[in-house]
This record gives sequence, structure tokens and C-alpha cells, in this order.
Amino acid sequence: MRERYEELKARLATIHDLRRAQELLFWDQTVMMPPKGGPVRGAQLTTIDRIAHDLFVSDEIGRLLDDLAPYEESLDYDSDGTRRDWEKSRRVPSELASEMVGAAAEAHDVWAQARAESNFALFLPHLERAVELKRRYIDCFDGYDEPYDALLDDYEPGMKTAEVRAVFEELKRELVPLIKDVGSVEGDDAFMAGPWPTDAQHAFSLQVIERFGFDPRSFRLDVTVHPFAASSATQDIRLTTRYSPDDITSLFTAMHECGHGLYEHGVSPTLERTPLCHGVSSALHESQSRLWENLVGRSRPFWNHFYPSFQAAFPEALADVDQERWYRAINRVKPSYIRVDADEATYNLHIILRFELEQEIFGGSLDLRDLPELWNARFEEYLGIPVPNDTVGVLQDVHWSGGGFGYFPTYSLGNIISVQIWERAVADLPDLHDQFEAGEFQELHRWLRTNLYSLGRKFTPQETLERVVGGPIDARPYVRYLREKLTALAPA
Ligand code: ZN
Repeated sequence: MRERYEELKARLATIHDLRRAQELLFWDQTVMMPPKGGPVRGAQLTTIDRIAHDLFVSDEIGRLLDDLAPYEESLDYDSDGTRRDWEKSRRVPSELASEMVGAAAEAHDVWAQARAESNFALFLPHLERAVELKRRYIDCFDGYDEPYDALLDDYEPGMKTAEVRAVFEELKRELVPLIKDVGSVEGDDAFMAGPWPTDAQHAFSLQVIERFGFDPRSFRLDVTVHPFAASSATQDIRLTTRYSPDDITSLFTAMHECGHGLYEHGVSPTLERTPLCHGVSSALHESQSRLWENLVGRSRPFWNHFYPSFQAAFPEALADVDQERWYRAINRVKPSYIRVDADEATYNLHIILRFELEQEIFGGSLDLRDLPELWNARFEEYLGIPVPNDTVGVLQDVHWSGGGFGYFPTYSLGNIISVQIWERAVADLPDLHDQFEAGEFQELHRWLRTNLYSLGRKFTPQETLERVVGGPIDARPYVRYLREKLTALAPA
């Protein structure tokens, strides 16, 4: 048994190395690579992907998993993640898998053009193909309650559509009226246009995230077009951000990506080079980026500490802006068209809209030609503003062109979970407020590492959440948090 186990571990380590090399090549492509390297880099990434995939779906891995089934049963935790991954990968014919990759590559540029021109008709054939391929993908699986479950499962293993629907219904019921109440609070935020010198943005971002746990011996922070976090090992974390002199979103981006990075960095070293060396799901990952960005980075105690030095670092923009005005500006709730620019509260309505439409697409009731009209009607219903064109409406996100259906809900699930985890941390560490005011965040970091990060993918996402917060996903703490924060900001 021991030998078979070592054999499986060695094979999985090889695959893991290839996957991490792939991630690093992607990081290099978006951060470092001179532009003409693109075509060959694409081929290199495809090669590694094919080799890693073939090694993983091999019969030998299946035999090893079978041989080790009794050992798996004897463990005190649910360790079937690798088996599930293997079974899922085996069920998708490689022709279908490569057709999906090819279709996504073709659709990307058409989508970008369609978005620029607000031309949904141009994008429609590619969207139809992406949906058709995803339907075939869904057909590869059985045992799901509804088709959308198969899509969700790729990002949030074990999560059911019905569960997400129930949680989102509650969120929508609470948020739509709350946003109508507080979303009209105006303020003079003209100073937010800067100027924000970009070298000062970089210096300040680094100063903040180093307090969070960014260690230059294990982390980097670089510039890219669409920020993300990547890693090749727990001690090699690559964060990316972007700077523009007329806005200061980079600071929140740095905190957000740092949250993702701290999660990967905190996985137990004993899991290094195994398939368990990763955050457990998209929603749990997002809960950590949101926790550091919003619950810490938009809080009063955080700014009680940082505002004086922040103001000093950006005298042109902030000389006449007191801390309260700054705090209100970064927490302002105001319905807007673009999801990625949305505030903490309205963001969720952008997600719920997409989640509902995706279900209708795969539930079979929606004709894709009607999508823009449906989008616009529902957007106005939820956010109270009419959509002027498809560029800022149905065409704004890249996800659907790449067949990424099922991903959107994990963003809001992450918001919900972030507050569940936060409440636990605050209960265990009652003086967090004072620590933040003193510029200290190590205890929160340590708590999160012990209770969540170190687990990696050892447990299922549901078991992981259960261990950290003592129960399943629950929207109520998040709703309570938003209600308290936003009503305190509204005029009496
Ligand atoms: Zn994120």
C-alpha cells in the first residue's frame, strides 16, 4: 500500500509541477513577455496543458486510485477530491475539450470588437456556439439535479444551484430596497479624480500589504492589464495590479490580490507539490480577497491608522480632504453599469443578474437573441438605471466568450462567506479594532492561516467552511453587515 501511495504522490507531483509551470508562463506572458512572444507562448502553454492532462487522465492514475481506495476510506477527512477530478476529466472527450479551447480563442477577439461597437449581433453566433459546447459538456455528466449544477461544480465543487438560488434570493430581497434607500446619497467626490502619482501608489500599496503579510522574500507585486494573483509554490506568490494617475483603485486591487496571495502562501508546507496545495474553491478564495480589501481595507480603524500618511503621500489630491470625507467616498453606494467598477453592495446585484440569466440559458427557456433585452429590463429593475447600450450592458464581461459559465456566482458567494469568516475572527480576537488602529494585522493573518489557509484543498469546500465558521453558507451576516454600515453612512 505504502509503495502505491508513494507512486501516486510522485505522479501527481509531476502533474502539479507542470500546472504550476503553466501558471508561471501565463504570469510571464501578462507581466514580462515582449509582445511578439505571444504566438509561440500560446503553443508552449497548449503543449504543457496537453501533457499534464494526458498524464492525469491515464489509466494508471485510475488503477492507483482504486488500489488506494481502502487507504482513502481510513482517513479522517473526505479525501476524494483527486478521484473526483480524475473522474470528471475522464468523462469529457478530448475532442470536445479542444473544441472548447479553440472556440474560446476564436470568440475572444470577436467579443472585444462587438463590445467596442456595441454590436451584439456580431457576437451572437460565437455565444451560441459557446452555449452549444457547454450543453455537450453538461451531457458528459449524470447525477446532477439540474444542468447548471455541472457548471457550478467546476468552480465550487459540491455546491448546488438550488442552494445558491436560495442564498441569492435572500440577498436580492434585502439589497434591492436597501440600495434604493442609500444609493442616492450624494457627496462631493471630485477629488477622487486625482492626481495620484503612480510611483506613490506603488509605494503606498506595498507599505499596506507588507503589514498584511506580504513578505518580499516570498512575494512580488508587478503591473499588468487585468490584475490577478498567481503562484508557483507557497513561497513564490506573484501579485499583479495596475496604476492610473486619475484613480486610486490600485490600492484596493493590491489589497484584494494580496488576500488571494496570503491564502496560497498559507497552505501547509506539507501539502506542497500535491493537488491539495491550493485554495479550496473560487468562493473561498474570493472570500479572502474581499475580506482584506473590504472588511479590513475599507474599515474605519484601518483608515484611523493609515489616513495621515496616505494624505501626506498624495498632497495634491487630498490636502483639503478630511478623513471622514475620504471614508465616505470609498464606501459610497451608487448604482453603475460596469460590474468590475461597482461598489461593495451593488456588485452583488450585477452577479445575481448574470446568475439568473445563465440558469435560464441552460434551463432551456431563453432564446439567446433576446438576451440584451432581458439584460436591460432586469438591470433596470434591480439597479434602477436604464442601460444605454450593450457595451456597458450584456457585452461588458469576457467570461461568456470563453465559455466561463458558472463562475460569476462565486464572486458573491465569496462576499457572503467573507463576513461569516470575519464574524468568527472578531469573536476570537476581540481587540482587532485596536490592533488595526495601531497598524497591526498579524493576528488576523495568523488566525486565518491557522483556521483556513493551512487546510488547502484537504477538505471539500463545504467541510472547510463548516470547520471555519461552524455551519453552511448563510447570507444573513453579510446582509446585516451591509445594512449597518450603509445606514450609518446615510444622512439621518
Ligand atoms: Zn479576486
